[in-house]
Amino acid sequence: MKEIVLLGSTGSIGTQTLEVAKLHNIKIKALSAGRNIALLAAQAREFMPEYVCVADENRYSDLKLMLNDTDIKVLCGKESICELAAMTCDITVNAIVGMAGFLPTLAALNAGNDIALANKETLVVGGEIIMKLAHEKKRRIFPIDSEHSAIFQSLLCSQGNKPKKIILTASGGPFRGYTPEQIKNVTKEQALMHPNWSMGEKITIDSATMMNKGLELIEAVWMFYVPPEKIEIVVHPQSILHSAVEFEDGSVIGQLGNPDMRLPIQFALTYPERYASPAKSLSLTEVASMTFEKANEKAFPCIELARAALKKGGNMPCIMNCANETAVEMFLKDKIKFFEIPEKIQYAMENIRYMKDISPEIIAETERETKIAVLEAI
Ligand code: NDP
Repeated sequence: MKEIVLLGSTGSIGTQTLEVAKLHNIKIKALSAGRNIALLAAQAREFMPEYVCVADENRYSDLKLMLNDTDIKVLCGKESICELAAMTCDITVNAIVGMAGFLPTLAALNAGNDIALANKETLVVGGEIIMKLAHEKKRRIFPIDSEHSAIFQSLLCSQGNKPKKIILTASGGPFRGYTPEQIKNVTKEQALMHPNWSMGEKITIDSATMMNKGLELIEAVWMFYVPPEKIEIVVHPQSILHSAVEFEDGSVIGQLGNPDMRLPIQFALTYPERYASPAKSLSLTEVASMTFEKANEKAFPCIELARAALKKGGNMPCIMNCANETAVEMFLKDKIKFFEIPEKIQYAMENIRYMKDISPEIIAETERETKIAVLEAI
């Protein structure tokens, strides 16, 4: 029986990971959340982990009270989440949202754990550090992101052959087909209505701005060691082909399935085995047609911002990511309009101190500087 530590258990990926764990008798060693102690306590009672941790220290005493009739050890704060990440287990699942997930990934690898990674921001802000460490420690990072899981699964057929091109698919989000003018007037409610996926708020907005594809481009570059010019972003509104790999001979191998995150989550946890999954079986005749188109980068400038950040390297992807997190948070609080999100990111990329070499300390400093600058600009 496998045993996992699950960070971000109260979120969209976290709750679906627990569904998968229940189905396949995967043991839960520890659970963590940001603030939602009611759900965290309920999950703890159901799965009886050894540890639970809430990032928000103000919620510690209430959580402790909620679980005081159990033997579960209750912790709080960022450092304790890193301690959980590093606990001996078969795999640490990182389903935290945002760059708060970076240090826990680092801690898990340092401790010699394999990782199932949903937290794409980890590789965006510190891909170089993370992949180097994974290599040194001989540890594996299994993708949970559906596109990266599809690429991973396609590459399993490579027999050592290098990919010629990666086809990274995108649903296009709720504003696919909109002109830059139409995008000026969209509302928060519209932006939160993803056509195919039910996800946490931050990634839903990232999908609407298409920054999600920018983040995934950077994630793919680090995860699969493929240069960005070999990654083609293709809009595929039905979200059935989750991504594909083209080989030298022109063969394209991709992974298809109904949009259901339990599938990539499960494969990351059970690899290389494939077990029955709760995901609905795919009927191609029901799908009937699959369409593909180019992304409209004029209407969605975040893709180009991500390419530019990747090209510049150093702390630039971190500046971009942090500016995006701050701008999305402000958009969700109705402080800025949707079209201002890329504007704030560009502002940060042009104004924050660029540093060529990165370290965890530089990432933390860049985060601090960027957040202040974006908030001041707003
Ligand atoms: P959610 O917002 O639904 O959940 C995020 C989780 O992280 C929650 O458990 C939340 O706790 C916790 N959290 C929030 N802030 C902190 C913090 N500062 N420190 C520690 N924990 C924190 O996000 P999703 O599940 O949608 O996404 C998680 C990650 O997976 C993201 O990186 C996203 O891009 C990626 N991803 C998500 C997909 C999806 O379908 N949802 C698909 C592919 C990738 P609390 O509930 O208490 O706030």
